[in-house]
Amino acid sequence: MNNFTYVKAVTVDHALCEVQKPNARFIGGGTNLIDLMKGQVECASHLVDVRCIPGMTSIEPMTNGGLLIGASVSNSEVANDPVVRMHYPLLSQALLAGASQQLRNAATVGGNLMQRTRCPYFYDTSFDRCNKRQLGSGCAAIDGFTRMHAIVGASPECIAVNPSDMSVALAALDAVVHVEGPNGEQRCIDFCDFHRLPGDRPDLDTTLQCGELITAVEIPPSSFSESSYYLKVRDRASFAFALVSVAAALQFEGSVVKDARIALGGIAHKPWRCCEAEQLLIGQPISEALLLEVSEKAMFQALPQRDNAFKIELARRSIVRALKHAVAGSTK
Ligand code: SF4
Repeated sequence: MNNFTYVKAVTVDHALCEVQKPNARFIGGGTNLIDLMKGQVECASHLVDVRCIPGMTSIEPMTNGGLLIGASVSNSEVANDPVVRMHYPLLSQALLAGASQQLRNAATVGGNLMQRTRCPYFYDTSFDRCNKRQLGSGCAAIDGFTRMHAIVGASPECIAVNPSDMSVALAALDAVVHVEGPNGEQRCIDFCDFHRLPGDRPDLDTTLQCGELITAVEIPPSSFSESSYYLKVRDRASFAFALVSVAAALQFEGSVVKDARIALGGIAHKPWRCCEAEQLLIGQPISEALLLEVSEKAMFQALPQRDNAFKIELARRSIVRALKHAVAGSTK
């Protein structure tokens, strides 16, 4: 691990100023960044701690009925917040499916959005080829062991997947990421535009500009509190990343689906919204045949790697199962 300096930012302006220093990085709970620094995957020279900035540490109701979650709120606080549990149970379930209690206590919302892929070839610097570590060096995974890698949205430059559970739920809930730039300019990024597909720039995980700080995540008023479910399929029952995960959310009008959201994790470089599959549900009563049709549509673009064709069928079955759980929630 290289030597670095550290400062605890006291305001957003202070953090934005400090991060202008050479090779500086924001740090929240440090649950991913410190590991990356220990492994020489990241070599930051200056860490700007954003955990204690007023305005970034609370969960506040919004006048439109939505919720504004400060970027420095811990994953545990969000998962256990009474408003989140009541109105956005999908988000609470997704957070509790990730990591361990200790990690969730330390990890922040902003840090969760910025966590890097768990591709083993990215973490092991004895592999020279990794376009995410060193753009233009190649990809060791493509002809390596690809069981955990992408089945949609990959490129010849990178087949890694995004590891976040929280982000899958936020994609389904139409969240918006609030950021502030070096000159105080503020902007809002629709969640589905926040993470990127790898294309020819797999070194870039997000659409954040240089020096921008995530200050909060906004969730619109919930239509899905009665009928949603987060399903995570993994090799171990806890403390493992998803092979496939599904955030499913339904809104009913009588017995007919009024609105629907399906987002998948563990299969792409970003949380994967299945908009065309969602449309199939709208205006329809739920039936076994419809759920199968939806799951087929969700996977129509899938293109497996050498070792992970099983993920396509796993994703189809997981979508059906998650939607059935969501439906069951509505009839409690
Ligand atoms: Fe690197 Fe992406 Fe290839 Fe993994 S899949 S080795 S992260 S370029």
